[in-house]
Amino acid sequence: MPVIAMHGIAENVNSKLFQYRNIIEKDKFIFWLNKLPENCISLSEYISKKNGTVITIDDSTIASFWAAKTAKMKGHEVTFFINPYYIVNQLPYFFSAINLILDYTQKTEIIYKGIKHDITDYRNKNNFRKILKSEYLLLKNNDECYEYLDKLKYIFEIGKINYPNHLKIISIEELKELKDIGVNIENHSWSHISFNNLSNKEIQSEVQKAEKWILETLNHKTSYLALPFGNYCNLHQFQNYKFYFLDTKLKILTTDYEFNRKDLTEILI
Ligand SMILES: [Zn+2]
Repeated sequence: MPVIAMHGIAENVNSKLFQYRNIIEKDKFIFWLNKLPENCISLSEYISKKNGTVITIDDSTIASFWAAKTAKMKGHEVTFFINPYYIVNQLPYFFSAINLILDYTQKTEIIYKGIKHDITDYRNKNNFRKILKSEYLLLKNNDECYEYLDKLKYIFEIGKINYPNHLKIISIEELKELKDIGVNIENHSWSHISFNNLSNKEIQSEVQKAEKWILETLNHKTSYLALPFGNYCNLHQFQNYKFYFLDTKLKILTTDYEFNRKDLTEILI
């Protein structure tokens, strides 16, 4: 079995809403856990045995918290990759905002950069979302993200965005609760900005700031790094980490070998 990647669970998942992208129905997750021949093991055990199933959960949302807690309470080892920026500031992820804007907008078409886009249904919205995602991936810092978000809210005629519980952000207390029950907390960078747009120095800062925060807040030294969006190739600068997870390609690279990290939403289809 593979190393599983996931982004959390929720109840009443509606696959026609963007806010549930990558989110697994709670019962479906529990059913999958119960069906496993053996309990999930830790990453370090997997590295030495190269066998077994590992659960890794990305991002600092409540949906991720629920998944981590559910699996751990059932006796599985869990690795949770967090972005402390969102936890410290209690700000939702920018891609959550983009998803909610697409769900909430009443508009049926958008003129964007001089081109008309039909957004009447999920499929059309999804096509337009790809454009937004490619632009979002080029932003260099959180200030630019906020500006971009304000622009989108204006274009889609959305006022205040109400975040559903599963997309809210885990508190420090909840994170400590996970650590106390034995969830392995690891590094997903400080703020989830794409590394492709950053200088080497900025990348170091994104990694080290998260590392330092986790050490100071949880008294835990991180060993694993999941790259935000996973689309960065210059990996030599993360030598102090055992593994580099490339999110979107779902690959894990080490100096010795490389294997796939499988998205649970795809396994459960
Ligand atoms: Zn992520």
